[in-house]
Amino acid sequence: MSKRLDGSVALVTGASSGIGEATALALAHEGAAVALVARRRNRLEKLAAQIEAAGGRALVLDADVTVREQAEDAVKRTVAELGRLDTVINNAGVMLLGPALDAPIEEWERMVDLNVQGLLYVTHAALPHLLEAAESSERRVADLINVSSVAGRVARSGSGVYNLTKFGVTAFSESLRQELTRRHVRVASVEPGAVETELADHLRPEIKEQAMKRFADMERLKSEDIADAVLYIVTRPRHVAINELLIRPTEQE
Ligand code: NDP
Repeated sequence: MSKRLDGSVALVTGASSGIGEATALALAHEGAAVALVARRRNRLEKLAAQIEAAGGRALVLDADVTVREQAEDAVKRTVAELGRLDTVINNAGVMLLGPALDAPIEEWERMVDLNVQGLLYVTHAALPHLLEAAESSERRVADLINVSSVAGRVARSGSGVYNLTKFGVTAFSESLRQELTRRHVRVASVEPGAVETELADHLRPEIKEQAMKRFADMERLKSEDIADAVLYIVTRPRHVAINELLIRPTEQE
């Protein structure tokens, strides 16, 4: 039986856990060959084995996308080994919350390096290939999806630099969307609310405790809920572009 993404190639950053892992699985399940990008090679290998056991195709690319050469090389290797590039999911990200006053400056650097610079490096390297796919592939459309956040729409005290990076991702996505849409490269931002992943594990312990209190009595989203949204976007017919999807747990205000 043919699947909706048969013959297409997707690259997913941050595929070693959480939303990226679930998204890579969902895309592979629909027939896409997937390039799995992140730093933890062992996690990527496990995921690739799972995809291959189900009859799919996966390419493990351990790369730190904050290093420009590694981001570029990941895109290059995807095209060299899987033949083309139809879909990019810029998902790798880090959320280091806490008051701005006395915040370790390294935390700010890490967020800007990954959420902004890493996303830009991958995007810059991928765009020529997405344009080519939109012009010459059977589907004649390509997709670039940037995982932003509710924090890219609503700023809060204690998440200023995370807000800065995610507002930036949302703004860049909209600008790029306008630039590329007539050439059938669809650019979308996906803005999740609270999702149960490893994201909060990188917080300082006292900050984590405080942050988790906010969500203690609610059912958070699962990574699969966001993967579902991504799948919805990339499986729309050529004339339909979903520009932005904001998805909160029902109980999140
Ligand atoms: P995870 O921490 O589970 O996933 C983050 C991913 O990014 C991991 O696969 C990690 O892999 C990868 N990553 C981190 N640093 C780098 C790097 N330098 N180069 C390449 N990959 C890297 O969290 P989520 O799945 O929750 O996060 C995914 C995205 O969703 C992020 O952009 C986040 O901001 C966004 N988001 C998450 C929400 C949530 O509540 N969970 C809410 C809103 C948005 P590795 O360590 O192996 O490199």
